[in-house]
Amino acid sequence: MKIKKTIISILDFLKNLLFCLELACSASKFYTFIRLLYKIVIPIFAILSAYILKVILDTINISKNWNIILLLCLSTLIINFTITGLNQLNIYVTKMHDSILDKKINLLIMEKSLNADIKMFDDSDYYDKFSIAQRDSQAFSFILWSTVDFISALVSVFGTLAIICHSNLLYGILLILATIPVTLATRQYTKLVYDLSVEQINDERKKQYLSYIASQKEYAQSIRLYNIKGYIKERYTDFWRYLFLARKKRIKPKTVMIGFLQLIPDIVIFGITLHIIIRIVEGKLSIGDFTLYTGLLTQLSSGIIAAINNAMEIYDNKMQMDNIKSFQMIPQDVQDSGELNIDEIEEIEFCNVSFIYPGTKERVLNDISFKIRKNEKVALVGINGSGKSTLIKLLLRFYDPTEGNILFNGIDIREYKLDSVRACFDVYFQNNCNFGFTISENIAIGKKKYEIDYRKMSEAIKIAGVEDIVNTAKYGIDTYLTRMFDDTGIEISIGQHQKIALARTFYRDKHVLLLDEPSSALDPEAESEIFDAIEKIGVNKTILFTSHRLTNLYLADWIIVLENGKIIEHGNKDILLQRRERFAELYGYQAEKFK
Ligand code: ADP
Repeated sequence: MKIKKTIISILDFLKNLLFCLELACSASKFYTFIRLLYKIVIPIFAILSAYILKVILDTINISKNWNIILLLCLSTLIINFTITGLNQLNIYVTKMHDSILDKKINLLIMEKSLNADIKMFDDSDYYDKFSIAQRDSQAFSFILWSTVDFISALVSVFGTLAIICHSNLLYGILLILATIPVTLATRQYTKLVYDLSVEQINDERKKQYLSYIASQKEYAQSIRLYNIKGYIKERYTDFWRYLFLARKKRIKPKTVMIGFLQLIPDIVIFGITLHIIIRIVEGKLSIGDFTLYTGLLTQLSSGIIAAINNAMEIYDNKMQMDNIKSFQMIPQDVQDSGELNIDEIEEIEFCNVSFIYPGTKERVLNDISFKIRKNEKVALVGINGSGKSTLIKLLLRFYDPTEGNILFNGIDIREYKLDSVRACFDVYFQNNCNFGFTISENIAIGKKKYEIDYRKMSEAIKIAGVEDIVNTAKYGIDTYLTRMFDDTGIEISIGQHQKIALARTFYRDKHVLLLDEPSSALDPEAESEIFDAIEKIGVNKTILFTSHRLTNLYLADWIIVLENGKIIEHGNKDILLQRRERFAELYGYQAEKFK
């Protein structure tokens, strides 16, 4: 059983290694070759140098053949030049190669985050795995180079051992035995350190969060207002102390033990050196042999330590790679398995849709059924938390319904390709963020400069009422919507951000418009302008919108009233008001305020 487990783990390791080698080659075959060559050639050169030195000393002692001595000295010079050249080449190649590899690996992790289910961003376990994957992203390249270093150290160890054993087999056996205890202890130590770092990742993240908020603009004002600078530093120190003490308690005893165990090979090497000296005194070995053996023993000692460390690094990196893989393997709930394309949505239908957020128990939407036909304007009304935004998220397949179906043109949305579903909508969310890109990049989102339709963009800017922002910005539409990068960028209000996001919606010009509180941060004048604009551009569009200001409902052909995730009323505004039920009540609250 144990043998089978070992074989499986070796095979798994080889598979990982092959994957890493492929990754390294995909970054650059040439750089990979140079790095591999370097790792193998250097220890061979070192052994060769030690051997040439022995021959030089023996020649000086015995034959005094100066031609041979000169030739040998020249060859050590050539070897040293080659080593120096290779060292420099390796430094350069490593830097370049690592930079390409870094990009490849980060894109691999980014790819997973960009495609992850929206639910993942509510899940602390996901964040833990993501943090570990990001922290360990170097494992891919490290495991490869640790293995190559390991092979290089083995070449050095076996090369030197072979020469030493040739003279005395016992030396070799003693040296191998001397390294076993430290090897086993280091293995345990590496596992302990890694397990600890995984165990502590959640608290580590809480600690990092505090450094994060200390440097972020959105928290800067509150931190100063509530004077919580000291509180934040103390909280940070508390987390740090807790993590530090836990690490110290677990790591210290093992470190001391490894320190002692590392003395064993040193003692054995010391004993062997003494034995060699005795044999020289007895005339059984030459002075050349002495320099050869002391050189080889030093190389052997450092080779053994390097091999142990590299083996441990491989083990450590393998655990890290397993973590990255487990991050990569997080299953997607929202499957992109549909095969149909959809260009235009003629009809949206909810059939008995219920929804529970992953990891919770409460039904946020409960048995929802309705149908929206082409070009209809429908308003979703309800108090906060009634489920309006959730309904919009289901339409966009950020989540799939727990029960029931959503149909577009009579076909379940899961049968369409995910991108083609989302491409049918223009969406405006309450927390619609703009990116730290230029104004034009924000409006024509995802388009390269040469793909932008500037006529359409200036129309969108006009309709959304953001001309004044563009006109006063230093580089017009090419101005950055943040001052994070330099002073030519601009910082704008939340209401202005909403208008830019609306300009994006108008620019995309899709047939179905989803608006979730499009005017929540706008002043009454801007709000009225925006709704007029939506009315104007929305003539030939299907619109589903939520708005807490019920006066905006003039835009709606009919209204859905949600409460606790259920449709409690629907119909046009006048009918709902006449019924004098929940909608009339909500409407009444707002009308009261304007009396
Ligand atoms: P509305 O848009 O009507 O204000 P939402 O659709 O945002 O309401 O929220 C409906 C309910 O779902 C609320 O009770 C809210 O707490 C809950 N909810 C919203 N988002 C999540 C989430 N990511 N995870 C768990 N519950 C959520």
